[in-house]
Order: sequence, then C-alpha cells, then structure tokens
Amino acid sequence: SVSPKAYTFEKNDLYCMLPQRKMRTNKGSYGKVLVIAGCEAMCGACYFSAAAAYRAGCGLVRVLTAKENMQILKTKLPEAIVGSYDEEFEDGIDFTPKKEVEEAIGWADVIVIGPGLGKSIKAKLLVKRILKVKDKTVVIDADGLNILAEFIENKEHDLGNLGTNFILTPHLKEMSRLAGKTTDEIKNDMPYYATAQAECNIVLKDARTVVGEGRNIPDGKIYINTSGNNALATGGSGDVLSGIIAGIAAQDIKMKPALAAAFGVYVHGLTAEKYTETKSRYSMTASDIIDMLQDVMPR
Ligand code: AMP
Ligand code: MG
Repeated sequence: SVSPKAYTFEKNDLYCMLPQRKMRTNKGSYGKVLVIAGCEAMCGACYFSAAAAYRAGCGLVRVLTAKENMQILKTKLPEAIVGSYDEEFEDGIDFTPKKEVEEAIGWADVIVIGPGLGKSIKAKLLVKRILKVKDKTVVIDADGLNILAEFIENKEHDLGNLGTNFILTPHLKEMSRLAGKTTDEIKNDMPYYATAQAECNIVLKDARTVVGEGRNIPDGKIYINTSGNNALATGGSGDVLSGIIAGIAAQDIKMKPALAAAFGVYVHGLTAEKYTETKSRYSMTASDIIDMLQDVMPR
C-alpha cells in the first residue's frame, strides 16, 4: 500500500491472492471465457486474447469471430471452442444478434470484446449488445473501446452509465477518446482518469499502468503497476492482456473485477521481466508473452 487507496503488488501476493487450484476440481471449476474478437482482416488479436485466457488458467475458452478466421483458430488453438458471429446477422433487417451469440453470452462467466474486432456494423451491434450485460464481468478492449467512444461522441452512451461489472482496458490514446481529453491531460493525471469519470473499472495502460475501481465504489482502490518493461511495447501485447485479465476473473467470479484486472496487469508485466532475464528485450513478441505465463504464474 502506498497511500490509503493506492496499492501495488509483490510476487508473494500472487501466491496468496490468486484463485487457488484445489485438488478435487475439474475444468468447470475454473470458469468460462467468451472472446468476441477478430474480423475478416484481423485474426491474430483474437488468437492472442483467447490463448492468453487459457494460459492464465481458466477452464474453457470459446471464441466468436469472423467466419474467415474459424479454420485458422481451430488449427492454432485447438483447445478453444470456435464459432462465428457472422451468420447471426444475415437474415432480418434489424440485425439483432440471435441464437449463437445469445447462447454464448449465457454460457460465459466472463466476456472479452474488442481485440481486432474492426468497426463494421456487425462489430457495433455486438458491442451494443454486450454493453447491456449486467450479471457477469466484461472486458472491453481495442476496437470495442473505439466503438464505445463513438457511441459516447454520438451521445448514444455515457461512460458514467457502465456498471461495476465492466473492465475497460484503454491505452492513453483510447482513453483520450473515451474521456474527450488530450493524451497529455490523461498522462498527467492517470489515477484521476482511471477512477473519477466512471463507475466501471478502468485499466489505464502505459509503461506504469494504473487500475482504478469506479468512482462510486465504497473504499474504491487504485492499483499502480510496478512490473514490466519496454519489451512489452510490441503488437498484440494489449490483446494478450485482455485475455489474461479475463482468464483470472473467470476463475473466481466473486473476486472484484478491479483486483482480477490488477493481477492480470502485474502478471503481464512479470512475463517481460522473466523473458529479459535471458533474452533480448528487442525480440519479445505477443506469442512470447503468452508462453512466458507458464513461468510466472504460480506453480
Ligand atoms: P496495447 O497498446 O493495447 O497493445 O497495450 C500495450 C501493453 O503493453 C499495455 O499493457 C502496456 O502497459 C504495455 N507496455 C507497453 N509499453 C510498455 C513499457 N515501455 N513498459 C511497460 N509496459 C509497457
Ligand atoms: Mg490494444
């Protein structure tokens, strides 16, 4: 603890505070993550998020992506249940998400939406639907945040209306658009922007990421991350983070979303520290971050 409300983690915290792996359990004990990500032009982001959720320890990962990505995901990540959101929209003029999307939402303990999702009409409708989810943790990242920012700019949505079950994971530029402020304004007061404008949890990403609980949470906390290094400044790094956070949150649905998010950020940072003990900080890729989870998560 560095002030009454601001916290940092040490490695020992991981061992005592992460959801435990108990003896008599099965995959159902560790939660289900639904990743809604990827579009025709982008498949990697969806893979990074889904693979990271598994490596962070959740029991089952299901993916809803563009139909062009299905085969490659089944090949790259055979552990995942792979479906598409595409067919859902093809009949009917109101484009209401139906069968598979609704069924998958009901199935999930935690939902990630946004990595590589694009900004198509389908993407916007999916985000609009997921913004209504009330009873489970939802991680919104990347294009999910860009679409949310567009809703806010069009006054169709308000950052303040998102409930405490949401975790937003913006980098400075994405936060700038969400908050309607310059990136300098955000950078100069990260604890404020991570907490004061919303009820939801915000992971404000930078070299020193700040995780804030919403403004109305009694005794709301701020976590200032101390792990990581510039090896993490690589494409797909944030997509991996979204999956790690969801994978941790799914393992204990009673854990406060901000705590799961802060652990996720801390673990994500540890992968880079571990990697650069023996390898070059120039060379780390998003896939390496996922692989390194095997070395930094508790044994
Ligand atoms: P994104 O921009 O969405 O790909 O996310 C990048 C991720 O890498 C975030 O979690 C950042 O906090 C992290 N990151 C990027 N650059 C650095 C850095 N120089 N030091 C520590 N973490 C970083
Ligand atoms: Mg990103």
